[in-house]
Amino acid sequence: MGLSEVWVLAEQRNGIIQGVSYELLNRARGLADKLNVPLAAVLMGYDMPADEVQELIYRGADKVYLIEHEILKDFLAEPYSSVICCMIDMYSPQIVIAAATSTGRTVLPHVAMRKRAGLTADCTILDIEKGTGNLLQTRPAIGGNILATIKTPEARPQMATVRPHSTKSAPRDVTRTGEVIRPVLPSECFTSRAKKLDFIEDKSQEISLQQADVVVAGGRGLGKAENFKYIEALAKILGGAVGASRDVVDRGWVTYPHQVGLSGKTVTPKLYMAIGISGAIQHIAGMQTSETIVAINKDPDAQIFKLADFGIVGDAMEVLPVLIERLKQYIAQREQEAIK
Ligand SMILES: Cc1cc2nc3c(=O)[nH]c(=O)nc-3n(C[C@H](O)[C@H](O)[C@H](O)COP(=O)(O)OP(=O)(O)OC[C@H]3O[C@@H](n4cnc5c(N)ncnc54)[C@H](O)[C@@H]3O)c2cc1C
Repeated sequence: MGLSEVWVLAEQRNGIIQGVSYELLNRARGLADKLNVPLAAVLMGYDMPADEVQELIYRGADKVYLIEHEILKDFLAEPYSSVICCMIDMYSPQIVIAAATSTGRTVLPHVAMRKRAGLTADCTILDIEKGTGNLLQTRPAIGGNILATIKTPEARPQMATVRPHSTKSAPRDVTRTGEVIRPVLPSECFTSRAKKLDFIEDKSQEISLQQADVVVAGGRGLGKAENFKYIEALAKILGGAVGASRDVVDRGWVTYPHQVGLSGKTVTPKLYMAIGISGAIQHIAGMQTSETIVAINKDPDAQIFKLADFGIVGDAMEVLPVLIERLKQYIAQREQEAIK
């Protein structure tokens, strides 16, 4: 029996383990070692390649609980949450951590509610309290101004989601050995009222936001969804990625993967352009470490100018077409010179 184990929820897509799972293993390894208990990865999927499963052991898992079923092939909140709940009933882990990805952020609240357990979202630091062995779950709070440490002294399991990229991946050690366990769960653990109809890939994001050297981000100041084409055009010319404030994501002008900030992605590009973005503390939390920040805003007192290295005070709808045109001319001129 796996009483009191530490668990991480491994993520797979099309049978490939997602890198964030190795970040979780890195964090959880330290927790399991402090508690002197086994570390297990829970992996749900269908027809998982054996080498992918083994990789979890190379990256620090002592055990992999592999649950395979047709309904678990792709992520669906309901059966994933049912399976985790069944697994918790069966093995009583003391800690369950998942990535603060759309998968982890969707499924763990389901589980927490069904198991009447606590859950701290988007932690950046996890530790074990001396004496009690409680999980110390630390995350930015009050708009990123303070770090709050949260404990769950009574309910079990203690659960947290961990912000992706907040730690390195666990190193690969091919000498590590571990067990792959295939728990036999009752059929009701696999029932679901939801089914996957289709998967539509977001092709608008050609360059990964978090890897891009240049991020051109738009906010509510753009006025309407159609105007986002200027942001996309500018990003393309500069070879960058498109970012957005939460306000415009909430309005449906762009999709969530583009959101920068406390509840979106953290980016550290060489150049960050904030266009029609006020500079709310929650937005700044996701881009303040950018090397150079350029802001375009019609309000000279906008908060973003306090952070910006360069500022253009003006109407984005007047500035952007001119800027795009001038950059195109500049690039064309450079290309001409290169040919000569
Ligand atoms: C818990 C929590 C988490 C949050 N997480 C995030 C997050 O991850 N990311 C995020 O971005 N926000 C987040 N927010 C929301 C955040 O507080 C702000 O509401 C949001 O960032 C505002 O978006 P904005 O700058 O696009 O809009 P606004 O604040 O409305 O700013 C629009 C700006 O555009 C300027 N403007 C208007 N017209 C023009 C024009 N024609 N040309 C140029 N400039 C113009 C205005 O002067 C203004 O400065 C969060 C909030 C909470 C409470």
